Amino acid sequence: MKKINPCPMCGGKMELKKVPYSSGNEKIGEFDAEKCKNKKCGEAFFLEESSRMIEQKAKELGVWGMGRKIAIGKSGTSLIIRIPKDIAELYKIQNGGTALIFPEGKNRICLEV
Ligand SMILES: [Zn+2]
Repeated sequence: MKKINPCPMCGGKMELKKVPYSSGNEKIGEFDAEKCKNKKCGEAFFLEESSRMIEQKAKELGVWGMGRKIAIGKSGTSLIIRIPKDIAELYKIQNGGTALIFPEGKNRICLEV
């Protein structure tokens, strides 16, 4: 058995677990990862072979490499993000359409279309 190092984020104990991975709202699958047992932390680090599988799956689904930095604007009291054209086309998002937005973690917001 491979020894699992403590969590680099909090120093907590890690365990081997299947962790779901998604790119945008496209669920890529569940992959082997070292996951922190500390509930407040919960960081997951995918194993090298999992990272390769994730990349391959994402490429098959045509969603690989579409992530990028976007600017945040303001309109009234709301903030505005622009959805890049290729992502909008892939997910068939249109002007005037609706989507569901919800917080998914400490630094992740999910947009469901
Ligand atoms: Zn941790």
